[in-house]
Amino acid sequence: MPVGATTDLDDAAIRAAATLIQRSRHVAALVGAGLSAESGVPTFRGDGGLWTRFGEPTFDGWELFNSDPGAWWDDALAAQHRDSEFARALDSARPNAGHVAMAEMEQMGRLAHTITQNIDDLQHRAGCRKLTEIHGNRYLVRCMNCGGRDRLSTISLDRLPPLCPECGGTLKTDTVMFGEPIPEDALRECYRQAALADLFLVVGTSAVVYPAAEFPVMAKRRGAALIEINPEETDLTPLADIVVRAAAGAALAAIVDELRAETMA
Ligand code: NAD
Ligand code: ZN
Repeated sequence: MPVGATTDLDDAAIRAAATLIQRSRHVAALVGAGLSAESGVPTFRGDGGLWTRFGEPTFDGWELFNSDPGAWWDDALAAQHRDSEFARALDSARPNAGHVAMAEMEQMGRLAHTITQNIDDLQHRAGCRKLTEIHGNRYLVRCMNCGGRDRLSTISLDRLPPLCPECGGTLKTDTVMFGEPIPEDALRECYRQAALADLFLVVGTSAVVYPAAEFPVMAKRRGAALIEINPEETDLTPLADIVVRAAAGAALAAIVDELRAETMA
């Protein structure tokens, strides 16, 4: 099925998902690139994904950065001006119905926390505040020394690599590179969510990137329930208590409608 394709929603699965969310004490979510597919941002894997079409990239980002941070920044700034389908899509993307529904669920007190693998800032822009960006945020920089995060747009790029205004350490893009360890505070929060959740909502992720894919599995082992929203089957599908085989936007919006109806009933 093409990415972002609308599917007929399975009403029974939507109702069951809403009821399970309503009855759970601590709902955590793990989301992936599929949540942003309907904003026009291509996924890596799955039908229509960038890697499916063009093959996998080299996985040496972290090594390159460490060997010469200044040269890495030089290349990255030059690449901004090259034609990149991914960068163009990210820069013109707006939050979609799925991002908005997740923010609503959070505001209704039904969604305690989201672990996002996305770097696109779209969930934050839709109003989600209880968010751990496990792979970083492409609009931020992070200090290699003190760990401080700042907006990329506020940092002087006259000298490369740019330096931390607080401690003088080397700044890198906040996006976690291939081979780079996940920042400790983000990882700690993810393990905390895996320990607290009695329900994990897994949306739009192929669930093959580790450690991200591990958190719902850890929660499941402790007895938590699992809901998967994805038009395609994934490695987590056999573990799911409820599977919604649909695009995230329509499915999440329908679940929020159902939650509202259940709250009023
Ligand atoms: P992935 O590309 O590996 O998998 C995407 C998944 O989304 C697939 O299972 C696919 O079936 C599903 N999907 C496609 N359209 C969907 C829709 N409309 N609704 C719901 N699901 C849909 O993505 P991943 O698992 O997040 O892992 C890829 C890595 O690449 C992540 O670590 C992430 O950091 C990065 N990435 C980020 C973005 C972004 O920030 N928007 C985009 C692409 C990749
Ligand atoms: Zn610093």
